[in-house]
Amino acid sequence: MIVFAPRETDPRETRAALTPETAKNLTDLGLEVQVETEIGGRCDHPDAQYEEAGAKVVTDRAAALAGADFVFRVRKPSNEEIGVLKKGALHISFLDPFNEPETMAAMASAGVTAVSLEMVPRTTLAQKMDALSSQANIAGYTAVIYAAERMNKILPMMMTPAGTITPSKVFVIGIGVAGLQAIATAKRLGARVTAFDVRDEALEQAESLGAKALRIDLGGDTGGTDQGYAKQLTPEQIAKQGEAQAKVCAASDVVITTAKVFGRKSPILVKSDVVAQMSHGSLIIDLAAESGGNVEGTVLDEEVVTDNGVRIVGLSNFEGRAPTHASQVFSANLGSFLEHFWDKEEQTFKFDLEDEILKGCVLTHDGAIVHERFKGGLDD
Ligand code: NAD
Repeated sequence: MIVFAPRETDPRETRAALTPETAKNLTDLGLEVQVETEIGGRCDHPDAQYEEAGAKVVTDRAAALAGADFVFRVRKPSNEEIGVLKKGALHISFLDPFNEPETMAAMASAGVTAVSLEMVPRTTLAQKMDALSSQANIAGYTAVIYAAERMNKILPMMMTPAGTITPSKVFVIGIGVAGLQAIATAKRLGARVTAFDVRDEALEQAESLGAKALRIDLGGDTGGTDQGYAKQLTPEQIAKQGEAQAKVCAASDVVITTAKVFGRKSPILVKSDVVAQMSHGSLIIDLAAESGGNVEGTVLDEEVVTDNGVRIVGLSNFEGRAPTHASQVFSANLGSFLEHFWDKEEQTFKFDLEDEILKGCVLTHDGAIVHERFKGGLDD
């Protein structure tokens, strides 16, 4: 059986879906591994490293796609490339199924088994395959490093003969995987950190990292889902949150927003009137930009400077700013997925749609959309 990982085609993408380390693990399982030449060109893995790991480096991308039993990729494929895939092949990548129904339909008609990394269940068993978390971790870190580099201030306190420099203030909204890593990184750099999340347990986690938790009584149910995701707030609750946060935002040098609601557009939590109160030179990093943004005025993939000198950063792919480590953990997630279902003796993939993990993340199989959530369209 052949595993093939093509080079990513999006010019913004720096990551590779397969690293030499994972390639070696897969060849040890008896799989034949192929990668497209230059796959690791932007994450410090020259072709020779793949060859040393036992993988075959190929130049004919279309032929490799057509011949592979398993395709590893970071981003969703084009419909054209879906058409090339072998019937019965298993394709694993981010697929954004809530927003890309056409990709899902194309996968179904190509007879491909499409695995969406976004849908991998958040269970202990599937943790090693959780690419949303592995990438969010890196994004939380790089967001703070980016802010530190872009600011005209330093983050830590400094007591010098010339006077005391007070620590910069960082406010993290949304304390999930990315938010927690942002808090930890900002604390390590000496910033004074405040954080808010709608989930109580997240506030406690922020406190354990040394941040000050902002507690807002939003009323009603603000707990998480059984997967640990936040539930959608009512417009009244969002307004209450905005009001309570305004003062903290205005006093912050850096605001990092990561608040997402699974499967839905991200809520706008920082409105323009609040941005208008922030100081000249302060920075907002909107890590939810790709899912609509948490900040009024965020423009995807741009850095906007407001009239009062606040920079709103809507860049995507913060994880891709540390592509070597982001690829390392991404590739490990995919390798773990395949290894988990691989029968080494029989040299087959143990496919069972009753399996809890596969039931959660397989969108299409055998010519049809099979995922419960998407079978009947997207209107829930
Ligand atoms: P996410 O990316 O969907 O959202 C980021 C954060 O935004 C979440 O903490 C969410 O509560 C928060 N949020 C949503 N609406 C908000 C609002 N209006 N204001 C403020 N914050 C808001 O979530 P995530 O980071 O992928 O994961 C969330 C949690 O799930 C994690 O903290 C973790 O505890 C849990 N988790 C569990 C597993 C597992 O069990 N295997 C794996 C990964 C994550």
